Amino acid sequence: MDAAVAMRKEAAPASGLKQVFQNAQRAFDLIKKHRTPPDPKTYAIWYAYVEAADPRVIERVDSAIAEHGTLTPFDISSIFRELLTEEPAVVSARHSIGMAIEKEIDEVMKIIQQGVQNSDEFGASLDKANSALPGAASAEHLASLVSTLMEDNHRMARTARELNQGLTDSQNQIAKLNQELEEVQTQCRRDPLTSVANRRAFDERLEREIRAAAETGENLCLAMADIDHFKSVNDTYGHQVGDAVLQQFASVVTQNIKGQDMVARYGGEEFAIILPETDLFSAYNLLVKIKYTFKNTETPVEGTLKSIKDVTASFGLVRFEPGMTPRDMIERADHYLYEAKNSGRDRVKAKGF
Ligand code: GH3
Ligand code: MG
Ligand code: MG
Repeated sequence: MDAAVAMRKEAAPASGLKQVFQNAQRAFDLIKKHRTPPDPKTYAIWYAYVEAADPRVIERVDSAIAEHGTLTPFDISSIFRELLTEEPAVVSARHSIGMAIEKEIDEVMKIIQQGVQNSDEFGASLDKANSALPGAASAEHLASLVSTLMEDNHRMARTARELNQGLTDSQNQIAKLNQELEEVQTQCRRDPLTSVANRRAFDERLEREIRAAAETGENLCLAMADIDHFKSVNDTYGHQVGDAVLQQFASVVTQNIKGQDMVARYGGEEFAIILPETDLFSAYNLLVKIKYTFKNTETPVEGTLKSIKDVTASFGLVRFEPGMTPRDMIERADHYLYEAKNSGRDRVKAKGF
Protein backbone atom coordinates (compact mmCIF):
# COMPACT_ATOMS: atom_id res chain seq x y z
CA MET A 1 0.00 0.00 0.00
CA ASP A 2 1.23 3.49 -0.79
CA ALA A 3 2.55 5.34 2.27
CA ALA A 4 0.22 8.23 1.59
CA VAL A 5 -2.75 5.87 1.47
CA ALA A 6 -1.70 4.38 4.78
CA MET A 7 -1.52 7.85 6.27
CA ARG A 8 -4.91 8.67 4.89
CA LYS A 9 -6.48 5.59 6.44
CA GLU A 10 -4.84 6.33 9.76
CA ALA A 11 -6.35 9.81 9.72
CA ALA A 12 -9.88 8.59 9.36
CA PRO A 13 -11.06 8.28 13.02
CA ALA A 14 -9.94 11.71 14.19
CA SER A 15 -12.46 14.52 14.13
CA GLY A 16 -12.84 18.27 14.33
CA LEU A 17 -9.85 20.40 15.17
CA LYS A 18 -7.64 17.40 15.80
CA GLN A 19 -8.53 16.02 12.39
CA VAL A 20 -7.73 19.29 10.66
CA PHE A 21 -4.38 19.52 12.43
CA GLN A 22 -3.55 15.91 11.64
CA ASN A 23 -4.48 16.34 8.00
CA ALA A 24 -2.48 19.54 7.78
CA GLN A 25 0.53 17.87 9.36
CA ARG A 26 0.27 14.97 6.91
CA ALA A 27 -0.16 17.32 3.98
CA PHE A 28 3.05 19.10 5.02
CA ASP A 29 4.80 15.75 5.46
CA LEU A 30 3.78 14.74 1.94
CA ILE A 31 4.98 18.08 0.55
CA LYS A 32 8.36 17.29 2.10
CA LYS A 33 8.38 13.61 1.18
CA HIS A 34 7.59 14.19 -2.49
CA ARG A 35 9.58 17.41 -2.68
CA THR A 36 6.63 19.27 -4.13
CA PRO A 37 6.53 23.09 -3.90
CA PRO A 38 5.38 24.38 -0.50
CA ASP A 39 2.71 26.66 -1.99
CA PRO A 40 -1.00 26.92 -1.19
CA LYS A 41 -2.05 25.08 -4.38
CA THR A 42 0.11 22.04 -3.64
CA TYR A 43 -0.88 22.17 -0.01
CA ALA A 44 -4.55 22.15 -1.02
CA ILE A 45 -4.00 19.06 -3.19
CA TRP A 46 -2.20 17.15 -0.45
CA TYR A 47 -4.76 18.27 2.09
CA ALA A 48 -7.60 17.00 -0.09
CA TYR A 49 -5.60 13.80 -0.65
CA VAL A 50 -5.22 12.97 3.07
CA GLU A 51 -8.72 14.20 3.83
CA ALA A 52 -9.94 11.61 1.29
CA ALA A 53 -13.24 13.36 0.69
CA ASP A 54 -12.89 13.10 -3.07
CA PRO A 55 -11.68 9.73 -4.47
CA ARG A 56 -10.79 11.39 -7.78
CA VAL A 57 -8.09 13.43 -6.07
CA ILE A 58 -6.58 10.27 -4.62
CA GLU A 59 -6.71 8.52 -7.96
CA ARG A 60 -5.08 11.41 -9.82
CA VAL A 61 -2.37 11.94 -7.23
CA ASP A 62 -1.57 8.24 -6.94
CA SER A 63 -1.30 7.81 -10.71
CA ALA A 64 0.82 10.99 -11.05
CA ILE A 65 3.20 9.66 -8.41
CA ALA A 66 3.28 6.21 -10.02
CA GLU A 67 4.17 7.85 -13.31
CA HIS A 68 6.54 10.68 -12.27
CA GLY A 69 7.62 9.70 -8.74
CA THR A 70 6.23 13.04 -7.57
CA LEU A 71 3.70 15.72 -8.56
CA THR A 72 5.12 17.72 -11.43
CA PRO A 73 4.13 21.40 -11.80
CA PHE A 74 1.84 20.25 -14.63
CA ASP A 75 0.16 17.64 -12.36
CA ILE A 76 -0.32 20.23 -9.66
CA SER A 77 -1.95 22.83 -11.85
CA SER A 78 -4.14 20.34 -13.70
CA ILE A 79 -5.31 18.46 -10.57
CA PHE A 80 -5.98 21.76 -8.87
CA ARG A 81 -7.84 23.23 -11.82
CA GLU A 82 -9.86 20.14 -12.59
CA LEU A 83 -10.68 18.83 -9.13
CA LEU A 84 -10.16 21.32 -6.37
CA THR A 85 -12.29 24.09 -7.80
CA GLU A 86 -15.29 21.82 -7.59
CA GLU A 87 -17.92 22.27 -4.97
CA PRO A 88 -17.58 19.09 -2.86
CA ALA A 89 -13.96 19.74 -1.97
CA VAL A 90 -14.67 23.36 -1.17
CA VAL A 91 -17.67 22.47 0.96
CA SER A 92 -15.80 19.81 2.83
CA ALA A 93 -12.78 22.05 3.43
CA ARG A 94 -15.05 24.85 4.54
CA HIS A 95 -16.77 22.50 6.91
CA SER A 96 -13.58 21.32 8.54
CA ILE A 97 -12.16 24.83 8.76
CA GLY A 98 -15.41 26.04 10.27
CA MET A 99 -15.17 23.34 12.89
CA ALA A 100 -11.57 24.19 13.50
CA ILE A 101 -12.48 27.83 13.92
CA GLU A 102 -15.21 26.97 16.36
CA LYS A 103 -12.87 24.81 18.37
CA GLU A 104 -10.15 27.41 18.20
CA ILE A 105 -12.49 30.08 19.45
CA ASP A 106 -13.35 27.74 22.31
CA GLU A 107 -9.66 27.37 23.03
CA VAL A 108 -9.14 31.09 22.86
CA MET A 109 -12.10 31.64 25.16
CA LYS A 110 -10.52 29.26 27.64
CA ILE A 111 -7.26 31.16 27.50
CA ILE A 112 -9.12 34.43 27.97
CA GLN A 113 -11.01 32.92 30.89
CA GLN A 114 -7.71 31.96 32.41
CA GLY A 115 -6.84 35.59 32.40
CA VAL A 116 -4.29 35.36 29.66
CA GLN A 117 -4.32 38.43 27.53
CA ASN A 118 -2.74 38.58 24.16
CA SER A 119 -5.01 35.92 22.73
CA ASP A 120 -7.26 38.67 21.45
CA GLU A 121 -5.02 38.95 18.44
CA PHE A 122 -5.49 35.34 17.47
CA GLY A 123 -9.21 35.49 18.08
CA ALA A 124 -9.33 38.43 15.68
CA SER A 125 -7.44 36.48 13.04
CA LEU A 126 -9.86 33.56 13.36
CA ASP A 127 -12.81 35.92 13.12
CA LYS A 128 -11.29 37.32 9.99
CA ALA A 129 -10.84 33.86 8.49
CA ASN A 130 -14.34 32.92 9.55
CA SER A 131 -15.93 35.91 7.90
CA ALA A 132 -13.78 35.46 4.78
CA LEU A 133 -14.86 31.85 4.32
CA PRO A 134 -18.31 32.42 2.80
CA GLY A 135 -16.67 34.56 0.16
CA ALA A 136 -14.03 31.97 -0.68
CA ALA A 137 -15.33 31.36 -4.13
CA SER A 138 -12.19 29.99 -5.73
CA ALA A 139 -10.21 27.04 -4.54
CA GLU A 140 -7.11 29.17 -4.74
CA HIS A 141 -8.66 31.64 -2.36
CA LEU A 142 -9.65 28.78 -0.07
CA ALA A 143 -6.17 27.29 -0.22
CA SER A 144 -4.68 30.59 0.77
CA LEU A 145 -7.16 30.84 3.65
CA VAL A 146 -6.12 27.37 4.79
CA SER A 147 -2.52 28.37 4.52
CA THR A 148 -3.13 31.53 6.53
CA LEU A 149 -5.01 29.54 9.12
CA MET A 150 -2.12 27.12 9.43
CA GLU A 151 0.30 29.98 9.88
CA ASP A 152 -2.01 31.40 12.53
CA ASN A 153 -2.19 28.03 14.23
CA HIS A 154 1.57 27.88 14.41
CA ARG A 155 1.71 31.42 15.62
CA MET A 156 -0.88 30.68 18.27
CA ALA A 157 0.98 27.60 19.40
CA ARG A 158 4.07 29.76 19.75
CA THR A 159 2.09 32.45 21.56
CA ALA A 160 0.53 29.84 23.84
CA ARG A 161 3.99 28.51 24.67
CA GLU A 162 5.17 32.02 25.41
CA LEU A 163 2.09 32.74 27.50
CA ASN A 164 2.60 29.49 29.31
CA GLN A 165 6.21 30.39 29.97
CA GLY A 166 5.02 33.81 31.09
CA LEU A 167 2.57 32.19 33.50
CA THR A 168 5.26 29.86 34.82
CA ASP A 169 7.61 32.80 35.25
CA SER A 170 4.92 34.72 37.11
CA GLN A 171 4.18 31.72 39.29
CA ASN A 172 7.86 31.34 40.10
CA GLN A 173 8.10 35.04 40.76
CA ILE A 174 5.07 34.90 43.06
CA ALA A 175 6.46 31.85 44.87
CA LYS A 176 9.77 33.67 45.34
CA LEU A 177 8.03 36.78 46.65
CA ASN A 178 5.94 34.64 48.99
CA GLN A 179 9.06 33.00 50.31
CA GLU A 180 10.69 36.39 50.85
CA LEU A 181 7.56 37.60 52.58
CA GLU A 182 7.58 34.55 54.81
CA GLU A 183 11.23 35.18 55.66
CA VAL A 184 10.45 38.79 56.55
CA GLN A 185 7.54 37.65 58.69
CA THR A 186 9.77 35.11 60.41
CA GLN A 187 12.40 37.76 60.99
CA CYS A 188 9.75 39.94 62.64
CA ARG A 189 9.13 37.18 65.11
CA ARG A 190 12.73 36.38 65.96
CA ASP A 191 15.15 37.90 68.38
CA PRO A 192 18.10 39.06 66.26
CA LEU A 193 20.75 38.27 68.88
CA THR A 194 19.76 34.74 69.84
CA SER A 195 17.58 33.75 66.85
CA VAL A 196 14.89 32.36 69.16
CA ALA A 197 11.32 33.69 69.13
CA ASN A 198 10.83 37.24 70.31
CA ARG A 199 8.35 38.65 72.76
CA ARG A 200 5.70 39.23 70.12
CA ALA A 201 5.84 35.62 68.88
CA PHE A 202 5.78 34.43 72.48
CA ASP A 203 2.68 36.48 73.37
CA GLU A 204 0.77 35.12 70.38
CA ARG A 205 1.84 31.58 71.04
CA LEU A 206 1.06 31.59 74.74
CA GLU A 207 -2.42 32.90 74.09
CA ARG A 208 -2.99 30.15 71.52
CA GLU A 209 -1.68 27.42 73.80
CA ILE A 210 -3.81 28.59 76.71
CA ARG A 211 -6.89 28.51 74.51
CA ALA A 212 -5.99 24.99 73.34
CA ALA A 213 -5.32 23.76 76.88
CA ALA A 214 -8.61 25.24 78.10
CA GLU A 215 -10.46 23.47 75.28
CA THR A 216 -8.76 20.09 75.44
CA GLY A 217 -7.89 19.90 79.13
CA GLU A 218 -4.31 19.03 78.09
CA ASN A 219 -1.36 19.98 80.25
CA LEU A 220 0.48 23.22 79.57
CA CYS A 221 3.50 24.55 81.41
CA LEU A 222 5.28 27.87 81.28
CA ALA A 223 8.70 28.68 82.66
CA MET A 224 10.38 32.04 83.06
CA ALA A 225 14.16 31.85 83.19
CA ASP A 226 16.64 34.53 84.16
CA ILE A 227 20.41 34.44 84.04
CA ASP A 228 21.97 34.90 87.46
CA HIS A 229 24.23 37.85 88.18
CA PHE A 230 24.31 38.68 84.56
CA LYS A 231 25.25 42.25 85.25
CA SER A 232 28.53 41.05 86.70
CA VAL A 233 29.21 38.95 83.55
CA ASN A 234 28.89 42.12 81.52
CA ASP A 235 30.93 44.09 84.01
CA THR A 236 33.72 41.53 84.21
CA TYR A 237 34.02 40.37 80.61
CA GLY A 238 32.30 43.05 78.61
CA HIS A 239 29.01 43.35 76.83
CA GLN A 240 30.06 41.15 73.92
CA VAL A 241 30.81 38.22 76.17
CA GLY A 242 27.46 38.91 77.83
CA ASP A 243 25.85 38.62 74.42
CA ALA A 244 27.64 35.33 73.79
CA VAL A 245 26.32 34.00 77.10
CA LEU A 246 22.77 34.92 76.06
CA GLN A 247 23.29 33.08 72.77
CA GLN A 248 24.67 30.11 74.65
CA PHE A 249 21.66 29.97 76.93
CA ALA A 250 19.23 30.19 74.00
CA SER A 251 21.12 27.44 72.24
CA VAL A 252 21.13 25.12 75.25
CA VAL A 253 17.38 25.52 75.68
CA THR A 254 16.71 25.06 71.97
CA GLN A 255 18.73 21.85 71.94
CA ASN A 256 16.81 20.43 74.88
CA ILE A 257 13.25 21.18 73.89
CA LYS A 258 11.36 19.59 71.05
CA GLY A 259 8.19 19.44 69.02
CA GLN A 260 5.70 22.15 69.94
CA ASP A 261 7.87 23.54 72.73
CA MET A 262 8.96 27.14 72.35
CA VAL A 263 11.72 29.23 73.82
CA ALA A 264 11.49 33.00 73.49
CA ARG A 265 13.62 35.89 74.59
CA TYR A 266 11.25 37.71 76.87
CA GLY A 267 13.57 40.66 77.37
CA GLY A 268 17.13 41.44 78.51
CA GLU A 269 18.50 38.24 80.03
CA GLU A 270 15.10 36.74 80.65
CA PHE A 271 13.66 33.87 78.61
CA ALA A 272 10.25 32.21 78.50
CA ILE A 273 9.73 28.53 77.74
CA ILE A 274 6.31 27.21 76.69
CA LEU A 275 5.83 23.46 77.12
CA PRO A 276 2.50 22.27 75.70
CA GLU A 277 1.20 18.82 76.64
CA THR A 278 3.78 18.58 79.42
CA ASP A 279 2.95 17.86 83.04
CA LEU A 280 4.60 19.77 85.89
CA PHE A 281 6.89 16.93 86.90
CA SER A 282 8.26 16.39 83.38
CA ALA A 283 8.63 20.13 82.90
CA TYR A 284 10.51 20.42 86.18
CA ASN A 285 12.91 17.62 85.18
CA LEU A 286 13.50 19.15 81.79
CA LEU A 287 14.32 22.53 83.33
CA VAL A 288 16.72 20.96 85.81
CA LYS A 289 18.49 19.29 82.91
CA ILE A 290 18.67 22.60 81.01
CA LYS A 291 19.94 24.36 84.14
CA TYR A 292 22.81 21.84 84.53
CA THR A 293 23.68 21.80 80.88
CA PHE A 294 23.89 25.58 80.77
CA LYS A 295 25.97 25.78 83.92
CA ASN A 296 28.47 23.32 82.44
CA THR A 297 28.65 25.01 79.07
CA GLU A 298 31.71 27.12 78.48
CA THR A 299 31.43 30.41 76.65
CA PRO A 300 34.68 31.48 74.95
CA VAL A 301 35.85 34.97 75.75
CA GLU A 302 36.42 36.59 72.41
CA GLY A 303 39.97 37.71 71.70
CA THR A 304 41.38 35.51 74.46
CA LEU A 305 42.05 31.83 74.88
CA LYS A 306 39.90 31.85 77.97
CA SER A 307 36.31 30.84 78.37
CA ILE A 308 33.86 31.44 81.15
CA LYS A 309 31.79 28.80 82.81
CA ASP A 310 29.61 28.35 85.86
CA VAL A 311 27.21 31.05 84.75
CA THR A 312 23.90 29.90 86.15
CA ALA A 313 20.23 30.57 85.62
CA SER A 314 17.10 30.47 87.76
CA PHE A 315 13.71 29.20 86.69
CA GLY A 316 10.14 29.74 87.81
CA LEU A 317 7.66 27.16 86.55
CA VAL A 318 3.86 27.14 86.44
CA ARG A 319 1.25 24.78 85.14
CA PHE A 320 -1.91 26.03 83.46
CA GLU A 321 -5.03 25.87 85.57
CA PRO A 322 -8.53 26.50 84.16
CA GLY A 323 -9.42 30.17 84.05
CA MET A 324 -5.82 31.39 83.89
CA THR A 325 -5.03 34.17 81.43
CA PRO A 326 -1.62 34.60 79.78
CA ARG A 327 -0.89 37.38 82.23
CA ASP A 328 -1.82 35.12 85.17
CA MET A 329 0.54 32.43 83.95
CA ILE A 330 3.42 34.84 83.43
CA GLU A 331 2.87 36.40 86.85
CA ARG A 332 2.78 32.99 88.54
CA ALA A 333 5.94 31.88 86.75
CA ASP A 334 7.62 35.17 87.70
CA HIS A 335 6.58 34.59 91.26
CA TYR A 336 8.40 31.23 91.34
CA LEU A 337 11.37 32.75 89.53
CA TYR A 338 11.60 35.35 92.26
CA GLU A 339 11.48 32.53 94.80
CA ALA A 340 14.31 30.76 93.00
CA LYS A 341 16.40 33.92 93.07
CA ASN A 342 15.65 34.54 96.71
CA SER A 343 16.46 31.04 97.80
CA GLY A 344 19.97 31.14 96.33
CA ARG A 345 19.62 31.18 92.49
CA ASP A 346 20.73 28.33 90.21
CA ARG A 347 17.50 26.41 90.78
CA VAL A 348 14.03 25.63 89.48
CA LYS A 349 11.00 26.61 91.54
CA ALA A 350 7.41 25.54 91.05
CA LYS A 351 4.33 24.76 93.14
CA GLY A 352 5.30 21.81 95.34
CA PHE A 353 9.00 21.87 94.28
P1 GH3 B 1 19.91 38.47 88.97
O1 GH3 B 1 20.73 37.29 89.31
O2 GH3 B 1 19.17 39.00 90.12
O3 GH3 B 1 19.07 38.24 87.79
O4 GH3 B 1 20.97 39.61 88.61
P2 GH3 B 1 21.31 40.14 87.20
O5 GH3 B 1 22.62 40.85 87.26
O6 GH3 B 1 21.23 39.05 86.20
O7 GH3 B 1 20.09 41.11 86.92
P3 GH3 B 1 20.03 42.63 86.59
O8 GH3 B 1 18.62 42.89 86.27
O9 GH3 B 1 20.63 43.41 87.74
O10 GH3 B 1 20.95 42.85 85.33
C1 GH3 B 1 20.60 42.37 84.08
C2 GH3 B 1 21.63 42.85 83.13
O11 GH3 B 1 21.46 42.28 81.87
C3 GH3 B 1 21.60 44.34 82.95
C4 GH3 B 1 21.62 44.54 81.47
O12 GH3 B 1 22.60 45.47 81.07
C5 GH3 B 1 21.99 43.21 80.96
N1 GH3 B 1 21.45 42.99 79.62
C6 GH3 B 1 20.17 43.08 79.22
N2 GH3 B 1 20.09 42.83 77.89
C7 GH3 B 1 21.33 42.55 77.47
C8 GH3 B 1 21.89 42.19 76.19
O13 GH3 B 1 21.22 42.09 75.18
N3 GH3 B 1 23.22 41.95 76.15
C9 GH3 B 1 24.00 42.05 77.24
N4 GH3 B 1 25.30 41.80 77.09
N5 GH3 B 1 23.51 42.41 78.41
C10 GH3 B 1 22.20 42.64 78.55
MG1 MG C 1 19.38 38.11 85.82
MG1 MG D 1 16.51 39.95 84.83
